[in-house]
Amino acid sequence: MQLIYLAIIGACIGSFINVVALRLPRKESLIWPGSHCRSCGSDVRWYDNVPVVAWLQLGGRCRDCKASIPLRYPAVEVLSAGLWVSAAMAAPTSLGLVPSLFKLWAGVVLVSLLLPLVLIDLDHMWLPEPLCRLGLLLGITATVAAAVLNGWEEGSNLLLNHLIAAAAALLALEMFATFWGIFIRAINFICSRQIKPLKAIGSGDAKLAAMAGAWLGLKGVGMALAIANVSGALFGLIAFASFRLKWRQPFPFGPFIAIGIWGVWLCGPDWWWDQWQNLIQIQMGL
Ligand SMILES: [Zn+2]
Repeated sequence: MQLIYLAIIGACIGSFINVVALRLPRKESLIWPGSHCRSCGSDVRWYDNVPVVAWLQLGGRCRDCKASIPLRYPAVEVLSAGLWVSAAMAAPTSLGLVPSLFKLWAGVVLVSLLLPLVLIDLDHMWLPEPLCRLGLLLGITATVAAAVLNGWEEGSNLLLNHLIAAAAALLALEMFATFWGIFIRAINFICSRQIKPLKAIGSGDAKLAAMAGAWLGLKGVGMALAIANVSGALFGLIAFASFRLKWRQPFPFGPFIAIGIWGVWLCGPDWWWDQWQNLIQIQMGL
């Protein structure tokens, strides 16, 4: 029963996430005006605003001008509902020993921050700083609350670990981006060629990594970034091999970091480490 409630609330939050992903990059207010048709401008009636159901009932078209409403809106609502349900099944290890209700609430907050970041990065190759900063602050807040619940000795270690993780992840990715830029410039200088510096990792990715550190701690953020790199490289190879992506064509990396973060939140870094070791053992025929 709890899962049904979670799915319903998740779908409603998904509806708001659609608004955030659409309006934040345009610097429009998130609250005013209310939802309106992008085509004819007429206000969406409250009963046409029910997540997923209204879209199905209207056949994916505006009630007034019959302009089609992109499938993406109900899809994001369904995805959000699924992610909220998955938060109830998660076994996060990064916050130490805390009540399961605490883990659930922390999880739904985390996933509701990641989803708009992913959508905006896919649309604009941009991870908005205000959202990353909010995610960082909420991650630290959750860690402080978990630290109090874990008692002084465990708690202070936990808090220190997460603060170092946030700073280290930010620095590591910023440094990577800087050195990559210097490396390309050096090659251009030596070979007197003009290679356009491919934006491998942007500073938005560094901010998202800092947020990951605040939520997951040192071990967790390391594993999340490893998952992001492996899944990002696999995607790049497959997309390139199937001619969906041109050579050196950049693609957003934020979604892969988000997959890493959510993966580590669901199962904990140790579970992923075990899978990795199993895979290597199979590879070596042991
Ligand atoms: Zn309309």
